[in-house]
Amino acid sequence: MQAGLAAELSNLVADPARILTAASVLDRLSHDFYWYSPVLRALLADKTGDVAVQPISVDEVVAVLRYAGKHELPVTARGAGTGNYGQCVPLEGGIVLDLSLMDKLEEITPDGVAVCQPGLRLGVLETEARRQGWELRMYPSTLVKASLGGFLGGGSGGIGSVAHGGLRDFDTVRAFEVVTMEAEPRIVLHEGAAVHEILHEWGTNGILARIWFALTPAVEWTQFTAVFDSYEQAFRFTESIAVDAAWTKRLATVFEWPIPSFFTPIKHLTRADKALSLIMIASSQAERLRAAAEAAGGEVTFSAAYHGPRTQPLLSDYTWNHTTLWAIKADPAYTYLQCGFSPAECGEQFRLLRARYGLDFLFHIEFMKNGEGEVIPGAIPIVRFTNEERLDEMIAYCRSIGVFVANPHVNSLEDGGRFRSDNIQLRAKQRYDPRGLLNPGKMTSFHMESFDKERMPR
Ligand SMILES: Cc1cc2nc3c(=O)[nH]c(=O)nc-3n(C[C@H](O)[C@H](O)[C@H](O)COP(=O)(O)OP(=O)(O)OC[C@H]3O[C@@H](n4cnc5c(N)ncnc54)[C@H](O)[C@@H]3O)c2cc1C
Repeated sequence: MQAGLAAELSNLVADPARILTAASVLDRLSHDFYWYSPVLRALLADKTGDVAVQPISVDEVVAVLRYAGKHELPVTARGAGTGNYGQCVPLEGGIVLDLSLMDKLEEITPDGVAVCQPGLRLGVLETEARRQGWELRMYPSTLVKASLGGFLGGGSGGIGSVAHGGLRDFDTVRAFEVVTMEAEPRIVLHEGAAVHEILHEWGTNGILARIWFALTPAVEWTQFTAVFDSYEQAFRFTESIAVDAAWTKRLATVFEWPIPSFFTPIKHLTRADKALSLIMIASSQAERLRAAAEAAGGEVTFSAAYHGPRTQPLLSDYTWNHTTLWAIKADPAYTYLQCGFSPAECGEQFRLLRARYGLDFLFHIEFMKNGEGEVIPGAIPIVRFTNEERLDEMIAYCRSIGVFVANPHVNSLEDGGRFRSDNIQLRAKQRYDPRGLLNPGKMTSFHMESFDKERMPR
């Protein structure tokens, strides 16, 4: 079957070398960082596509989708494969649509909107944007490898979110063109509120083919670290910087000990038994920040300019979900959760979690602005995995004390906890992929028999 499929697909793209069938290549292109989760590791390790296609144009994407639709073959989009919930792992085989060669930056408009192909790497965009006086509003800590299409398809926010919110907020994703999986695929423009029908939908209801992504004027940044005797002190200091609009910042992170002990390449910036605060601050405010940290009882261990993604050390490599990677390297029994603490109740929430789980639940805070403009303590705590029941119990307990959890140990959009209750994504799937061929199995509320034409929006 594979050989026949590959032969037919090679008629649809200009160069047959962009049809890939080698088992090792398919295995790589069918997986991401799903193994971060001990639960997903067991479920997804043996799933692969039957063939991978690397289109270089929207016309080729349309041709592949038309073919796949006609033969009822699943199609799973892939950017750089840095997702960490198995989002791009094909559950039912079929075609892996690797968009990494569609990586052009078409232009940056005079008002700072980047017009991009989906495979464009975020690090390339950040570098070119800064050359032109702009920069990314926010990016994942996988900046260097991750693609813009994959960020919109599977990501949520990151460095910059403390000032600009997440991908869903403040009109950062201005518009995109989506290729549909209808009997005759169409290219449909979504702009304004309509982007939310497709954003963060893991490629289940359309393939992003061209993206308008809003940037922000570039700032001269300084990377800064300070250590504090206690987590409480580090948290309060970092929070005071994060919530005060007078500070121009891109990152405000806190780690309790022993998390900093996992960061071996920057060991010299940490101190044994001390909590670490890591901040990206406007260089014009760096000296004032040093004074503020010292006044709060901290010892400043680093303060140096950021020159773009190639800066060494690149402190964002230790933040957001990179923290989890360092923890797993230090001890494979660690895994993680994705949480949001309550700004008013977090002191009590920290206390309750410590009392219940001790050092099996380690605090890693990422301050971020929510859609209402309030800066809140987001968190990617490092937790010790013993078994799935205990992990589920931890999640249930967090929720019972008012801590929001987006569960990263599930492989469906709905179970992750960020699916919209107004069902606009499901309705987009019913419209654009009525046969359920795009990344099947990931949007579990979609059933072909539930497809009800009467209730379809026009
Ligand atoms: C160490 C580490 C740190 C991370 N840190 C962060 C972080 O700070 N913030 C964050 O948000 N995420 C983070 N992530 C998750 C991930 O790196 C980002 O979301 C990243 O932007 C995904 O980009 P990608 O190109 O690798 O996407 P992929 O993993 O290739 O794809 C992600 C999803 O999008 C879909 N997709 C890809 N391209 C398209 C397209 N053109 N059209 C439609 N759907 C598409 C895929 O099918 C998949 O479901 C992290 C992951 C790791 C492993």
